[in-house]
Amino acid sequence: MIQSNTITKELDVFAIRKQFPALNRQVKGQPLVYFDNAATTQKPQVVIDALVDYYTNYNANVHRGIHTLAEEATAAFEASRDAAQRFINASSREEIIFTRGTTEGINLVAYSWGRKNINAGDEIIITEMEHHSNIVPWQMLCEEKGAVLKVIPQQDGELLLDEYKKLLSSKTKLVSVVHVSNALGTVNPVSAIIQLAHQAGALVMVDGAQSTVHLDIDVQAMDCDFFAFSSHKVYGPTGIGVLYGKKHLLEAMPPFQGGGEMIKEVTLEKTTFNDLPYKFEAGTPNIGDAVVLKAALDFVTRIGKEKVRNHEIELLAYATEQLVQLPGVRIIGTAATKVSVVSFVIDKIHPQDIGILLDNRGIAVRTGHHCAQPLMHCFGIPGTIRASFAMYNTKEEVDQLIVGLQKAIKMLL
Ligand SMILES: *Cc1c(COP(=O)(O)O)cnc(C)c1O
Repeated sequence: MIQSNTITKELDVFAIRKQFPALNRQVKGQPLVYFDNAATTQKPQVVIDALVDYYTNYNANVHRGIHTLAEEATAAFEASRDAAQRFINASSREEIIFTRGTTEGINLVAYSWGRKNINAGDEIIITEMEHHSNIVPWQMLCEEKGAVLKVIPQQDGELLLDEYKKLLSSKTKLVSVVHVSNALGTVNPVSAIIQLAHQAGALVMVDGAQSTVHLDIDVQAMDCDFFAFSSHKVYGPTGIGVLYGKKHLLEAMPPFQGGGEMIKEVTLEKTTFNDLPYKFEAGTPNIGDAVVLKAALDFVTRIGKEKVRNHEIELLAYATEQLVQLPGVRIIGTAATKVSVVSFVIDKIHPQDIGILLDNRGIAVRTGHHCAQPLMHCFGIPGTIRASFAMYNTKEEVDQLIVGLQKAIKMLL
């Protein structure tokens, strides 16, 4: 199935595939074709091995013990924080807070920064393109505080920046925007969005759940105030993620949760909180997965994001070109700048029926609203079929998707 032409622009896809054991398995008697990477990526052997190594050799609680295992676990846990700092080019390690993932990162900001800084009549701006996890926390905050949620509209998958400019005012306190849309693949012009927000005196939170795996992230150059991502979409384990925040902002924010780890001294009358980043990491953290995040980030860096991006964009172009030739297929989201996500609908056919028929051929795609129901509503559809490509996908796999779709369309129409 793998042919020599899978080596694209120096990316040796054949060698990469060998590092992902899940890609060897069969589904419904066919080799797995995994095109659900925007939901979560498969894990390379180095990541799986790092998790086994942690639990086999140096499992211990961090920061509190003086014994060897505790020291080793703490060193690995903190080394992972350093790796995350480098990966997004934060200026200091105190700005890297471990979370459960993007959702928790956004909720942390809404809960801690939001409850301190948002008052009645203030405005928060999001976009029509948001994942539910960048909508609901702000709705909850606005409802509690009597603040107003405003929304930047989009057209064909691109944000309307002129409309955004009209929404900004001295009432705007925060703009929270998705860097890359999980449903459409659009890369949003976050630098321009951030600059305009700052001119209006507002802070900016960037949802980096989709961008962190595909784009080079430099939070200092971007000048965002908060940035959140999830390990599991960057070839790492689930249950761990990172919230970046500018140090002076994090320092001024009250803790998110209370408990162990986040304190300096506790008496029954009063508690002094720990320094950054520990102030926001109450309780025993997810040590094992945090440690392994470094293995995932190092893996991506070693292979090289640019090489991977070139390969993925080639797959996107190849897939898009073929999809539009199928009867009744309409691409949803045709922004000029996209990552390797293609969403589409087929006339008179429910996305879920396609998903089931493709699964019967071992092909994993996602169907439905992709946690972006308001966006689907804008397009007047209940959902789409989404194929999202990763470093290990090939043109031969895209060919199989196209054949699967041709058969499914013939069967369902
Ligand atoms: C996946 C995703 C999230 C939520 O990430 P979790 O890992 O589920 O917390 C938020 N925003 C976007 C754009 C996503 O793709």
